[in-house]
Amino acid sequence: MKVCKECNIEKLEMDFHKKRGRKGGISAECKSCKKTRDSLYYQKNKEAIIIRTKKYCQENRSVSRASAAKYYKNNRSEINHKKREHYRNNRSAEIMKNRIWLANGGQAIKNAYEAKRRAAKLQATPFWADVEELKRIYEECPIGCQVDHVLPLKGKTVCGLHIPINLQYLTAFENGSKGNRLLKEHTA
Ligand SMILES: [Zn+2]
Repeated sequence: MKVCKECNIEKLEMDFHKKRGRKGGISAECKSCKKTRDSLYYQKNKEAIIIRTKKYCQENRSVSRASAAKYYKNNRSEINHKKREHYRNNRSAEIMKNRIWLANGGQAIKNAYEAKRRAAKLQATPFWADVEELKRIYEECPIGCQVDHVLPLKGKTVCGLHIPINLQYLTAFENGSKGNRLLKEHTA
């Protein structure tokens, strides 16, 4: 047992945080006093703490990304299971959330990612491709148009690359009627 220097209440050792170099190896103040003090400190210095945390996160972005990726890799099935469960329990809210995201520019991001995945599958993105420019093209695609590969990634006779110069905007109609013209243009 030990008396907390803050609240002067005698408490069990397990009610104190461990602290090396302290008498008995535990802190002078109890856990609940420390918690109160920390939260008062946070309230008082909230803005500075948020700024500092944000700065730290930005500076250590690649580190935290790497550790997040590692965590995901090691807990993949559990995480995916939880996600599916959450989706099942909140289906209509999740559908609405996704719809709002798509309408607010998410569709372009989704299209860019899908094209990237398709291109990766076909190994169509060379290492020198301007990835930022690719993303921009998808994001700036006019409403009612689609981003099209001038030379298809998987053509019958030739295969195009997933690079900016091979991208063009087409209306859905033009895209649908492209097939025949392409054959004439590129196999002559
Ligand atoms: Zn205390």
